[in-house]
Amino acid sequence: MAVLVVYLYLDVWFYVQAQPPMIQSLGDPPAKGAPEQTKIPLYPNLRFKSIVRTKGIYDYETMISHLQQLADHYEQLTIDIVGESIEKRAIYLVKLGHGSKKILLDGAHHGNEWISSFLLMTMVEHYAYHYHTGQPFYEYDIRALLSDYTLCFVPMVNPDGVEIVASNGRSSRDYDKLVALNGGKRSFAGWKANARGVDLNRQYPTNWPLARDYGPATPAMANYAGSQPLTEPEVIAIDRLHQQEQFAAYLTYHSVGNMIFYYYYQTGDWLERDRALAYAVGRLTGYEVRHSSGGIGGMARDHVVTAYQIPTLIMELGINKQRPLPEFAGMWERNRKVPCLVITWLDQGKP
Ligand SMILES: [Zn+2]
Repeated sequence: MAVLVVYLYLDVWFYVQAQPPMIQSLGDPPAKGAPEQTKIPLYPNLRFKSIVRTKGIYDYETMISHLQQLADHYEQLTIDIVGESIEKRAIYLVKLGHGSKKILLDGAHHGNEWISSFLLMTMVEHYAYHYHTGQPFYEYDIRALLSDYTLCFVPMVNPDGVEIVASNGRSSRDYDKLVALNGGKRSFAGWKANARGVDLNRQYPTNWPLARDYGPATPAMANYAGSQPLTEPEVIAIDRLHQQEQFAAYLTYHSVGNMIFYYYYQTGDWLERDRALAYAVGRLTGYEVRHSSGGIGGMARDHVVTAYQIPTLIMELGINKQRPLPEFAGMWERNRKVPCLVITWLDQGKP
């Protein structure tokens, strides 16, 4: 008995160390054809067997390891590579569902906003688990929702930028050059751009000259729009995906602000439709809905609203720029049902 108590204590300790609190239990990931392994004692409410977790910056290698484990457990997930970064890291696309109508969720256009990758990977695991088991996800039936819809996740658009933040610049082949792009600073905690100092959320073609004029004239840690639109492979990959898949809606995750942006010069019924969805998601998450366009141009939102005319939400996660992990449980709680709400909203034939 004493051994069991110590064992459970250690498990709880490990869980507390490894997982932010308040995340709904997934229990044991189901084994796929593998021989039964020796079971360790489990309390039903402990979640330490969940795959997606982090104790620090959610970096590229951690994401790949989790993608591999998720693919091993959930045959319902399709994992593809849709592009390659400047430093030859893969840009992954994870699909769940069988529907012809597709929704794209992406994260980490900006390197220092890696918390959005962690959020989307957590979402992938929870939705895959509930799809696999058929258990209800709160009031939603994931299998039913994903019979007509497919959720498409690109959890890390800018893996090089995330690695620059995670390694504090040491991931770069040319550290001194990176320090120069970083304004001489040796802390890379605020790095947003890709590996060659282009801000991927200033690279899209719609009103790109405004982004060029607004930002710095040369590569930098943030806001440099590039020499032309669509020069960077990460942005080319996302734009190609939009062209190929013709998504029904697009959610692009950033941090920080606890805000939602949806507006880019829509008018009439088109504006009413997009505003209605933004407010529905705002009520669910508690995030403030902002009507402002931001006015800079060259953003993914600007381009997708203009070129594809689909409802597009910029989701700005959290408040605190410095310590995002302690905020994660709250972020997850606010965002976990968002894809269910978006599918339900689209499916009810709203204008
Ligand atoms: Zn951002």
